[in-house]
Formats: sequence, C-alpha cells, structure tokens
Amino acid sequence: MFHIAIYILVSAAFANTQFPLLDKKSPGRFLHITDLHIDPHYKEGASFDSQCHAISHTGKDNRAGKYGSPESGCDSPIALIDKTFEFVSKNLYDIDFVFWTGDNARHDGDSNLPRTLKETKEQNILAVSYFKKSFKSNVVIIPSIGNNDVHPHNLLDYKHNTAAIFPFFADIWSDYIPISQKRNFLQHGSFVKDLSHSLQAVSLNTLYFSSANKLVEHCGIESSPGRVILEWLETEVLKPAKGAKKKVFISGHIPPNAKNYQGDCLDRFITLSLKYKEVIIGQFYGHMNIDHFYFPVEKTHPLNVEPNDLMHIMAPKWINKYFKSLLKHYKSIQKEPSLPAPIFVTSSVCPAFNPGLRVYTYEKDSGHLLDYDHYYADLSENSNLKSTFYKLEYRAKSEYKLISKQITHAWKDLADRLSQLWKKKKTKALIKSFYRNFVIGVKKLFKPFNDSIGQ
Ligand SMILES: [Zn+2]
Repeated sequence: MFHIAIYILVSAAFANTQFPLLDKKSPGRFLHITDLHIDPHYKEGASFDSQCHAISHTGKDNRAGKYGSPESGCDSPIALIDKTFEFVSKNLYDIDFVFWTGDNARHDGDSNLPRTLKETKEQNILAVSYFKKSFKSNVVIIPSIGNNDVHPHNLLDYKHNTAAIFPFFADIWSDYIPISQKRNFLQHGSFVKDLSHSLQAVSLNTLYFSSANKLVEHCGIESSPGRVILEWLETEVLKPAKGAKKKVFISGHIPPNAKNYQGDCLDRFITLSLKYKEVIIGQFYGHMNIDHFYFPVEKTHPLNVEPNDLMHIMAPKWINKYFKSLLKHYKSIQKEPSLPAPIFVTSSVCPAFNPGLRVYTYEKDSGHLLDYDHYYADLSENSNLKSTFYKLEYRAKSEYKLISKQITHAWKDLADRLSQLWKKKKTKALIKSFYRNFVIGVKKLFKPFNDSIGQ
C-alpha cells in the first residue's frame, strides 16, 4: 500500500513537471496562427501594383495602409506583425500550445525586388523571435514549413536538399523539435511531439505532397519523400498511438485537397485518415487564407477548383466557386455513416482578406475539441485601424449552433444544415454568417453574396 502511494506521488510529480499545464482536467486553450508573410519592404502609401513596395510617381494607386491592405496582393507590414504579437502576448502568453503552420516569408511576386534564399531565411528567423518574445517558455510550439519558406517557392527536393533547408529549420526550431525527432525531421521535415500522456501533435511537411512541388516524385513511387512521410506517420505515430490509446492532432501548411495535393499523395493520406479516424481527433492547416472546414473522405471530395495562386485566390469569382464546391462537398457526405474528424483551415495573418487567428478550447485529458474563438482585425473598412485591433469575430459553438459534444457529429451536423437547407428561410442567416466568416468579414465580398441569396 505504502509502495503504491509512493508510486502515485512520484508519478504525479513526474507528470506535472513534464507537462505542467497539460495534466489538469480543466479545459485548455491552444492557438492556431498561420501565413505571417512578413514583408520588411512594405511601405505605407505605396501602390498595390508594386506589391506595396514603391510609391507611384503618377500619384495613382498609392493606397497601402499602415497595417496592410486586404485584396491588394500585398504581404504583411512589420506594423501588422507587431500588432498581432502584441495581441498574442497580452492575451495568449500562457496557453498550452500553438499550431504555427508556416509561410513566414513574403511572397516572391515583385519582379523589381526578387526574394532571395537569404531573405527567406531571415524572415523565418525574425518570425521565431516574435514567438520567443510572446510566449512563456513552457508553451509548446509546433511549427511547420510553408511553401513560401523555401526558395524558390513550392520547390523542395529530396535527399540533395540543396538549400540545406531542413538543417536550417532544425537549428532555428531547436527549442520546438524534440531531440528524439531530429533524425526524421532532417530526413523529411516532419515531427511528432507529446502534448500530454495521452495526446500528441504532428507537424507535417506538406511540401512533399504538394502538386506544385515539381522536384519530387509522386506518392505512388515507394521511394518518394511523400511516401516516406506517410509511412513514418503510420508506423511511428498513428499505429503506436492506437496501441497506447493516445490521440493525435495533425497540423501542416497546405491542406489536403485534390487541387493542392498530388493525386496518389491525397489518396494515401485520406486512406490513413480513415484508417486511423479513432486516433486523429483534428487536423489544422493554413495556406488558403479563407476560413473553412471539410472532411477527409474518399472520392466524394469535390474541393478541386482552379486556379489556386494568390492573385486568383482573392478574386470574388474564385471565392464563390470554392464556396460552392464546399457546399457540394457537404452535400456529398450527408449519407456517410461514420466520418473522420474535420479538417480546419484557418485565416491567415497576412491580409489577403482580413488578418485573423484562432484560439481553440479543448479537454486536456482527452484532447476533445470544445469550441474556438476566431479573432480578426477589420482592415477592409479602415486599413489604418488605430484603436482596438484584433477583436472577436465569432465563437464557433454559438455562431453555428453546434449542439453535439462530439466534434465530428457537431461539424457534420453543420455541414448538413449548410447544404440541405440552402433554400429554406431558416438557413439564410446561417449561410450568411458562414460566408462572412469564410472571407474574414471583408464587407465588399460578403455584401453582394448576402444580397444575392435574398433578405
Ligand atoms: Zn502557402
């Protein structure tokens, strides 16, 4: 009896020092932040044509706002990154962990100012310094590599690793990647980290699944890097987690869909998501700038709209096409008896639309997601916004009337309501708010949509 008591005391003490914040039963919080796209060349008052890098001599089009310019094609000024981390360090410094899903460097879209590898690395080092300043040292950070964090963008080869990108990230993220994971991170850029005794977080290097990465073979080839990651994910993460009754969150930059992922990689990734649906209890991605969710399901997955580059992603026409494909997807899964946990794609800090970030609440012991708060700064109304910067845009559970406590049921029910009752009066308010959140509250975009579905 005495021995048992000692054991319990010792193991409890051990548990609390290893995971000081995570072993409590009360709800915990974690942040998902993505696509900072820091642009030190951004100039307030510059023209959109120059990607907000130069003042136009004709005096026309000099509109770059102090904190960023939604729908301009411009990246994030330092002033926006400062405001973002000011909000984070004031309100979220003591959260449990952070999914930080990449694209820290600016886009390489200005032919007068081509982005170099050196600059790409500098902007990533700068991003790390913001995280170090903003969070307590015991906040777990789970970063992942974005398609703009390599040079040239999208292109990342395997084995030769000419730009030595993995050693670079292993070095600047040395506080974030567990020592036991360094070997596989140096091999394929992914890692797994314990959040508690029963919960793990994966950082996936999605560049090896990306259809835009022309330097690697597709996942049908056994030696391809995408296949190496998927095999690692199954044999070293999901299978052992299942055996030990642990749960896993997956995070990465590029979300899995038919446009983003090479076909074999998508099929194999979805097969894994289905096979381990009891283990994977949530997936978190960035890259798309828009706020939405969907489910990883085979074939019935019509999220395949083109084009997908930044300039087009901001065109209302593209947005509406994507929105319709989402509703089609929701319709296609209506009769699925048992789905895996949803894939959550959150808005970017970079104001392709408005800047946004998301804070989830979850049960610390089970990892079960309870709710999230989405914050945004409305630059679409006033790009020089001074007073309150980030404010609560919506709280998922009340905004979408999520009733079920089971995460997959709750979001499947929302998908059903969004698709099934499209024409019925009572869903108009729901669709309106879903669309407004989808474009992060950019009035110019959601107002015509709202008008078109009637008052
Ligand atoms: Zn991206």
